[in-house]
Amino acid sequence: MSRIEAFHSSAAAWLTEHTPERPVMFFEPGILQATAARFLKGFPGMVTYAVKANPAPGVLDNLLAAGVTGFDVASPDEMALVRDRAPEAALHYHNPVRTRAEIAAGLDAGVTSWSVDRHGELEKLSGLPKGSEVAVRLKLEVAGAAYDFGAKFGAGPERAADLLRRVVKMGFTPSLTFHPGTQCDSAMPWRRYIQAAAEVAQTAGVSLHRLNVGGGFAARRGAAVPDLEGVFAAIAEEVAARFGADAPALVCEPGRGMVAECMTLALQVKAVEEEVIFLNDGLYGSLAEWRDIAASDRVSVVSPEGLQREAAVRRRVAFGPTCDSLDVLPEPLPLPADLAEGDYLLFAGMGAYSGALATGFNGYGMARTVTLGPTGQ
Ligand SMILES: *Cc1c(COP(=O)(O)O)cnc(C)c1O
Repeated sequence: MSRIEAFHSSAAAWLTEHTPERPVMFFEPGILQATAARFLKGFPGMVTYAVKANPAPGVLDNLLAAGVTGFDVASPDEMALVRDRAPEAALHYHNPVRTRAEIAAGLDAGVTSWSVDRHGELEKLSGLPKGSEVAVRLKLEVAGAAYDFGAKFGAGPERAADLLRRVVKMGFTPSLTFHPGTQCDSAMPWRRYIQAAAEVAQTAGVSLHRLNVGGGFAARRGAAVPDLEGVFAAIAEEVAARFGADAPALVCEPGRGMVAECMTLALQVKAVEEEVIFLNDGLYGSLAEWRDIAASDRVSVVSPEGLQREAAVRRRVAFGPTCDSLDVLPEPLPLPADLAEGDYLLFAGMGAYSGALATGFNGYGMARTVTLGPTGQ
């Protein structure tokens, strides 16, 4: 994402005025700050933001303005990005596999929590100051997420208990962390993980300093609006039931649930045929995630004059702009049948894993950002 321009009233008005041929991401800081306020008020613990979901400077600045004080970072570049604007923010380095140079960079940046999921990587951390927080990353087989985050990182319950004991032996502060999988459709994955976390701590005979319940908070897809407060309540209830008086402090690290709703992507229709449309962006750009998590029901269409297209729906195959035949959305898009060349498709809820994943392949794909509404300091 490149330039941020401030203070426009609505996406449709801006499009009518500028008729851009390149993708545009409309950013609404007011929505981001309101979402951050819901997390800060409702989550029963510390809220950190998973930077990878959207590292745009405007996003980080508005989260800081809203009162977010911690960030989940996975690389030295993400640490530098946060440190540049927030010298005091807590950095949780929750990528459990690191080179020794990356560990040194984490120490330099003042990381205060490190995750680990295998013995070799824990030994690499042996030079950390005594008392450093080391969070063992637990994995389970749990359904209910759009895709599984346990496939790559995490230790099963047995290894997690071993690692916890070793963390204590090394003189570190022991915590547990997990990620229930992105876009969870209920609180069930958290409940299962919290139950297992309590069992692992008990097996290890270790009292946890903190429990990090990960990201996974859902974006709105389909008609159902995610019940964020319901998930917070379920997490609090499950922790109380499983840990009782020995309950650890809680941390969460939302990515998608924090930023999805604050951005709307506008793409232009380059060409229309009976069964097919060509868009000015696709899977190599801001729709990179569409194969895993589509949001076809959140697309609307406006003409360059700002008229909302409202004809009955017709499904059309949607190609992206590059010369690669893979550059097509996996399912035909249900769009108003009267859609025309030059129209704009508005994709709501595109703040997460969209701009962050866009490539410049074939000279396409990078969206400019336009900020709408008051910035809501
Ligand atoms: C990606 C990631 C997150 C954010 O996940 P969402 O599903 O976007 O909320 C949080 N924690 C870790 C360790 C991650 O890798």
